[in-house]
Amino acid sequence: MTKEEALKTYFGYDAFRGGQEAVIDALLSGRDALAIMPTGAGKSVCYQIPALLLPGITLVISPLVSLMRDQVTALVQMGVPAAFLNSSLTFRQYLLALDRAREGRYKIIYVAPERLETEGFRSFVQAADVSLVAVDEAHCISQWGQDFRPSYLNIPAFVSSLPHRPPVGAFTATATPDVKEDIENLLNLRDPFRMATGFDRENLYFEVRQPGDKRAALLELVRGRPGKCGIVYCTTRKAVEEVCQFLQDRGIPAARYHAGLEAEERRQNQEDFLYDRAQVMVATNAFGMGIDKSDVRYVVHYNMPKDMESYYQEAGRAGRDGLPASCVLLYSGQDVRTGEYLITHGEAREGLDEAAAERLRERDLQRLRQMTGYCRTRHCLRQHILRYFGQDEPDYCGTCYNCLHNFKEVEVGREAQAIVRCIAETGQHFGVGVIAETLCGAGTDRVRKYRMERQASYGALEDLTQKAVRERIRFLLDEEILTLSPGQYPVLLLGERAEDVARNGPALYMRTLEEDRPAAVSRRPVPTELEGGQAELFGRLRALRARIARRQGVPAYVVFSDKTLREMAVLQPRTMEALRTVGGVGDAKASRYGRAFLEEIEDFFG
Ligand code: ADP
Ligand code: ZN
Repeated sequence: MTKEEALKTYFGYDAFRGGQEAVIDALLSGRDALAIMPTGAGKSVCYQIPALLLPGITLVISPLVSLMRDQVTALVQMGVPAAFLNSSLTFRQYLLALDRAREGRYKIIYVAPERLETEGFRSFVQAADVSLVAVDEAHCISQWGQDFRPSYLNIPAFVSSLPHRPPVGAFTATATPDVKEDIENLLNLRDPFRMATGFDRENLYFEVRQPGDKRAALLELVRGRPGKCGIVYCTTRKAVEEVCQFLQDRGIPAARYHAGLEAEERRQNQEDFLYDRAQVMVATNAFGMGIDKSDVRYVVHYNMPKDMESYYQEAGRAGRDGLPASCVLLYSGQDVRTGEYLITHGEAREGLDEAAAERLRERDLQRLRQMTGYCRTRHCLRQHILRYFGQDEPDYCGTCYNCLHNFKEVEVGREAQAIVRCIAETGQHFGVGVIAETLCGAGTDRVRKYRMERQASYGALEDLTQKAVRERIRFLLDEEILTLSPGQYPVLLLGERAEDVARNGPALYMRTLEEDRPAAVSRRPVPTELEGGQAELFGRLRALRARIARRQGVPAYVVFSDKTLREMAVLQPRTMEALRTVGGVGDAKASRYGRAFLEEIEDFFG
């Protein structure tokens, strides 16, 4: 079998994606490889196809015990004999799996790094024919990366203990030079073939919002995408709890995930999301590494993450199937202060001396600043991300929020002066709402209650809308001319530069939205919406998929991805042969499900 045949037979795809073929060739020729590819680019195919073509067993070392089961289920669905060895198995199951492995029943075995050292496993690999070792999420070996796993450091010793050293393939989506160097050195890669594919994810739409009310903004985003599944990332466990509750109270099927929950609840919630029982997952960054649910249609960041690597990795969990998906970040100046606090007050990592810890902190603050830069830029967001990863891009992508809108600079010195004076005059006791109402000369209950009409600055900005005043207050918060007190009812406080603004009213320039840019031209075709009949058929195919998945107790996307069903709804195949031309329909799935789907299509056209 050739690699092309394997791609078609097992995965049902006609062509390799950028970078896949070269990595596969390197591994097949016995050479080590280091592949840096963004999330969703298709890294797993790069070691799964060599695994199918090489004579012996491929070991895949992966950090996430909880997800191995799904990866293996997906492989088995495609007709690939695979298994996993990790702590979720009982001792008995573990021994049974090892026995079967000894009998040569599996081509691919997923193993947790901690398992490499166990006695049973060691004796198994000494006798087995290991053709390839694939190290997934290879950045876990570096303490410069975000997910350092000490047990990854044992991988090279394990590899050299094998009777014949097989080629080693290392895979990651983290591209910074420090981490890359660590992977090559610490994993002991030998003259590796290096592949770094473009980091652009064309189907993703990027947007940063700075809403006055994040909850309302989130609700609008979620309600605007009925029936679509999405992930909402929050920085803290507490925020996860609150946001999840908030969505549930409004009738949205949301689940929560963070490291503070019992393992059982985590497992259950994750499963609810994978199986489409919970439409929205509200989570900390503990959720998602290795999640390969391909039909996540949006990722909202409720807080700004700590660096661009984290952001792009998390946002990249949207739209892995290549269909349009949105990545929206809800930013506030408070996120920056929280981030700074966590870095400067956070626990130093184990085993670091003070100087090294200080260097790490400096670097983390620098990363946080770069992340803030992304939130505040009015230029192309895609370009901003890709430049960060060292990729040069044109300054207009036509598909991010900033490219789809026009911005203008307005001078707000006089207005800033009025805002600062109002806050000073009222003793730094009030929040954004009361201050905005006062400046606009509104007659609300609370304005009356606090007798704001008597203040000199009452109505000082009556030519502006309250929305415009709020926007200027946010700008002053960003500039740190103002700050917010911590706590549930934050009040506006004066920052260091406030006095200068109040006295001199220096020129200050704020970038603000001009108008929607009419009919922006997309620089590339994104898959279009389905037409009436196709959409209906798509719905029926999805329902059929759900029934099959339920019967088998597997997640729906493991049967067929959304992308595959869409293509079916458009191509409307009536024969097995035609069905086989649909992307994602390999041999095993065609023979298992082909008839049922053909019948559904037949039935649809009655
Ligand atoms: P990564 O591990 O790089 O994040 P995956 O290996 O999970 O990405 O692949 C993402 C999606 O792309 C999966 O649904 C996979 O089946 C699909 N895919 C991989 N290779 C191809 C290909 N050559 N053609 C079409 N789809 C592909
Ligand atoms: Zn853009």
